[in-house]
Amino acid sequence: MNTFYDSLQAIHARIAQAKAQVGRNDTVQLCAVSKAQSAEKIRLAFEAGQTIFGENYVQEAIAKQSLLQDCAIEWHFIGPIQSNKTQLIAQHFAWVHSVDRIKIAERLANSRPTGMPPLNVCIQINSSEEATKSGTGVEEMFALAQTITSMPTLKLRGVMAIPAPTPDKTLQHQQFRRVHEAFTMLQQQGYALDTLSIGMSDDFEAAIAEGATIVRIGSAIFGTRQYATLT
Ligand SMILES: *Cc1c(COP(=O)(O)O)cnc(C)c1O
Repeated sequence: MNTFYDSLQAIHARIAQAKAQVGRNDTVQLCAVSKAQSAEKIRLAFEAGQTIFGENYVQEAIAKQSLLQDCAIEWHFIGPIQSNKTQLIAQHFAWVHSVDRIKIAERLANSRPTGMPPLNVCIQINSSEEATKSGTGVEEMFALAQTITSMPTLKLRGVMAIPAPTPDKTLQHQQFRRVHEAFTMLQQQGYALDTLSIGMSDDFEAAIAEGATIVRIGSAIFGTRQYATLT
């Protein structure tokens, strides 16, 4: 039994509880956010049963991936995307949650190696109406969805958002509900989507109540991050 077994079990219990509270019987996946965590810790979490890991920084992720090649991990890229990093992302990840503009989608599509399955993509939307936050507005979301689905090397799976953190539960629900509405609008346009990527350590129960199909949880599994090691 390793150190992460108990914390992962505790998260799974909270996910189950949050689902039960709203009568959900479908699956909510857990993406363990391992940015700023060592390859050793990721290996322990993998050995404790966790298979999906989320990373924000390309170079850091690739360094850890090379140490964990023997682990059947599904790597998700969840951080902001600079255009000079699209090729590495397309080569080293199964999923990208944070696509928020057409140029990035095109670059990822053109860099996805032909031997690999299509790159699973979520559109990151800005649900908080904060001009500084990354994520596309609802208007541009439709054009982006059309671009992504026109590319055979990409597979549009759904929508992701990082609402402004708030301890106010009502506001958490409101913000997640807005993301779910955007997701529903895309479905109504005919897009076959199955992924609503919302919820982090401090708000994932509200996200599950509002329909999250995958929650991205870091500190509640691994403990507080050492940001200083990241620069
Ligand atoms: C860091 C991060 C998370 C996890 O945050 P915690 O509060 O540690 O759970 C989730 N999603 C994204 C996009 C992140 O950057």
